[in-house]
Amino acid sequence: MPKPATPHRVAKPGNVMATRRNEPGLIQRLAAGAVICAEGYVFELERRGYLQAGAFVPVVLSEHPEVVEQLHMDFVRAGSDVTQALTYYVHREKLRVIGREKDLVPMNLTALKIAKRVARRTDTLFAGDLCNTNIYDPTDRRALKEVERIFEEQVGWAADAGVDYIVAETFAWGGEALMALEAIKKYSKVPAVVTFSVHREESVREGWTPAETCRRLEVAGAEVVGVNCHRGPATMMPVLKRIRRAVKCAVAALPVPYRTTRRQPSLMSLTDPRCGNARAFPTGLDPFLCTRAEMGEFGREAFDLGIRYLGICCGAGPHHIRALAEALGRHPESSKYSVDMSKHAYFGTDKKIRSVQTEYRAKL
Ligand SMILES: [Zn+2]
Repeated sequence: MPKPATPHRVAKPGNVMATRRNEPGLIQRLAAGAVICAEGYVFELERRGYLQAGAFVPVVLSEHPEVVEQLHMDFVRAGSDVTQALTYYVHREKLRVIGREKDLVPMNLTALKIAKRVARRTDTLFAGDLCNTNIYDPTDRRALKEVERIFEEQVGWAADAGVDYIVAETFAWGGEALMALEAIKKYSKVPAVVTFSVHREESVREGWTPAETCRRLEVAGAEVVGVNCHRGPATMMPVLKRIRRAVKCAVAALPVPYRTTRRQPSLMSLTDPRCGNARAFPTGLDPFLCTRAEMGEFGREAFDLGIRYLGICCGAGPHHIRALAEALGRHPESSKYSVDMSKHAYFGTDKKIRSVQTEYRAKL
């Protein structure tokens, strides 16, 4: 087995505890109510012009780290309880694909440093992040070794940075999710939130149902299990109902904010009739975007089901997170700018609004 080029130091329990604060951790917060976690950083940064759709590697960490910090702040002001380090797709396999393996360590450490700074400044939870490696193949022993190495080093860097917990997300294989969980348990002392993705088929690639996959993850020690990405609220909700019934632990739900349908249940399957029924993913998804109200409705419905770890994945903007937070009865900082039409030029009801405009309302 090749030796890691940059061995990390595995955090000892004392080391991890030394960086913890007195605020309630993930588990206590989940016991008290919902935990909101904004995800979808890569999509949002692509929209803003700081990384390339396709490979979706957040090179913005090297080129414009201040933009990542600002986006964390935007999400926190909108109601995220968590600042999740942008280490999604900052693993050695993804960097190999774009020929930037040498940036592996600095990019991971930068992502963790920025997220930690924001988390400590804002009293949000500081989360590490692991994700799909895209090389996992249950029949390929060499690939499995490489996956193991990817998870080990990323968990090590996160633990060393003093994360409050680690998210492992967007897996299509249940086995890969279990490997990520095993690494979190082996190389850190923090809770694990493990979510996988449901694509067109309801099962993960082994053929396990989402409920069964969640049960396996719970038995293997995950503190929170569930699904993230790929499915919109409409097509994730039926899956969530079955998952909630199948496990005892906390459940996570982080859909994409897109109007997926029974026939096209995932964001990659959506086709746009205005564009010759071409696949809309990844840069033509705008016409399918959910409104803020729809995301708020999703949050309320999921919470009523008993789902406590809630967020939104690829496609989410801070406005969606704010809507989700407000639907759960929160009033985050940016709610002071939530819509108030009373002073609108045409639709306003305030007495300072001139009738010359409001009388024209019906013709708008
Ligand atoms: Zn996503």
